Amino acid sequence: MSAGAAKYAVGFIGIGKMGLPMAKRVAGHGYPVHAYDTAAAALQPLTAVSGVQAAKSLAELARACEVVILMLPDSKVVKKALFGEGDALAAHLKKGAVVIDMSSSNPSATRELGPRLKQAGVDLIDAPVSGGVKRAIDGSLAIMAGGEPAVIARVKPLLLTMGKEVIETGMLGSGHAMKALNNYVSAAGLLAACEALKVGADFGIAPDKIVAVLNVSSGKNNSTENKLMQFIVPGSYNSGFSLGLMKKDINIATDLAHSLGADTLLGEVLLKSWADAEAKLSGAADHTEIYRMLEK
Ligand code: NAD
Repeated sequence: MSAGAAKYAVGFIGIGKMGLPMAKRVAGHGYPVHAYDTAAAALQPLTAVSGVQAAKSLAELARACEVVILMLPDSKVVKKALFGEGDALAAHLKKGAVVIDMSSSNPSATRELGPRLKQAGVDLIDAPVSGGVKRAIDGSLAIMAGGEPAVIARVKPLLLTMGKEVIETGMLGSGHAMKALNNYVSAAGLLAACEALKVGADFGIAPDKIVAVLNVSSGKNNSTENKLMQFIVPGSYNSGFSLGLMKKDINIATDLAHSLGADTLLGEVLLKSWADAEAKLSGAADHTEIYRMLEK
């Protein structure tokens, strides 16, 4: 499994908003890609991409690939793809294969899956990403990887087709923990930015002036820079990251904190805000639509 001329076959499961551009980048770097998604329509945009073939089943994909990447909604779906009844990966993976869970999964679930795969001679690492669809397209995702360093090293060239940096965070599950903690901070920054935008606009300040001031001042954050003028002020709400997935990540972070006996005062506010928004707008709404909850 070297970065040499002959590239190993890569299975890519979950061809959604993130999985599609990520799988394209892997194929674009010469890895033969076997793609799978339960929604047939999700595979359609890959039909014309050179080096990609659609797998008919998870079993077929597992038998064909040395490395399998998962980019799925959550740990429940990841577990089902690996060990579910009927068509599933684990029983068919090659000995020595590596499974990379790039989904934003729950770290405790990941730590249970690792030893189960090990019994089948398969290594698991977690390598979730940050940066959204835009950075998935240009291959500049931030990747945080947990697991055995030797296993991460084996697949690092593959990871670097999708991201510009791989930060090794430690034991299996630590990447997933960091991903949830990052989105906890991101959600807090987004909510604060939305509240400031709403109050400033109600006071009579033009939205572009509000954002301009924030972005040269100490209130600047990822949402003021990359979300307010892009998705919220124009009302397009099309960042490509759903409200339901953000709520899942906040839940993972607060559950992790509680399991360690830590308080998350801000976390309770974030959970309630995103739960209310999901109930009102649906989990499929864009996560930036949290702003609409502030409108009377
Ligand atoms: P998405 O809903 O667009 O894509 C998920 C895909 O998985 C869908 O195509 C769905 O059909 C497929 N799927 C569901 N169950 C399946 C199964 N059992 N087997 C095979 N395929 C199945 O979601 P997304 O926005 O691409 O996010 C994917 C993961 O990446 C999530 O864990 C999310 O939290 C994380 N993430 C998303 C973003 C973002 O900006 N969208 C950024 C970073 C991380």
